[in-house]
Amino acid sequence: MMKLAYVQGFKINLLKYNDALDFVKTSLDNGENLQIVTINPEFIEAAKQNPEFANVLKYAELVIPDGVGIKIALKFKGIKQEQIRGVDFAQSLIELAANNGYKLALIGAKPEINQKLVEILKEKYPALNIVYHHDGYFKDDAQIIDDIKNSGANLVFTALGAPKQEFFNAKLKTAASGIVSIGLGGTFDVLSGNVKLAPPIYRKLGLEWLYRTIKQPERFKRIFPTLPLFLFHSIMDVVRVENK
Ligand code: UDP
Repeated sequence: MMKLAYVQGFKINLLKYNDALDFVKTSLDNGENLQIVTINPEFIEAAKQNPEFANVLKYAELVIPDGVGIKIALKFKGIKQEQIRGVDFAQSLIELAANNGYKLALIGAKPEINQKLVEILKEKYPALNIVYHHDGYFKDDAQIIDDIKNSGANLVFTALGAPKQEFFNAKLKTAASGIVSIGLGGTFDVLSGNVKLAPPIYRKLGLEWLYRTIKQPERFKRIFPTLPLFLFHSIMDVVRVENK
């Protein structure tokens, strides 16, 4: 059994980085369906307004704490959990796929970025088996799902932004079997070298969100007031539970 915690009613898996990776490997080796969500405060604030998104989060088999805000909210509850960053986890999954012959599909980002990522990965990991890739600007989910099924992919990365990628992965899970999917937000932009990864000092302090906001000021309105509000709601959630 996996340990779970709830932040404002939304489940988060409590586990170490390598245990999360092992869990994924076991699912791949057993041919199971597995939907991975890399959750951050924006997801939770959005899901509170969107019951369908909340439902998808509820039925995701693995919800890993990507945002530092999630780590802080868990800390309010006295729970110590490391941050498992989507971009790091994606990198580990790529290596896992290259070493074990898993069949990878890469769906998302702009066409030129998707293409560049495929080229970079093929060059870096000659053994990596990328069986399908497509940019993230398509209309017909059913067509892409058919393509994925026909490609025989068993590991699917979707980088369409949330909640789009989570809805897509949920649909894929119903339509196909033996697929591990993970929603990865803006990760393809980073892995393709188009957006720079936050320098180590920002990562160490859990301030990647600040770095990204400085680099792309238009993100400011996405972080504020979401992040402070989320932390406020998380504190209230702890107070409520303790008063029961
Ligand atoms: N994107 C996409 N299809 C869409 C909308 C967005 O493929 O219809 C891509 C976009 O190009 C970017 C990623 O999804 O690569 C979302 O990036 P963002 O930084 O907004 O996501 P976050 O990491 O904040 O969830």
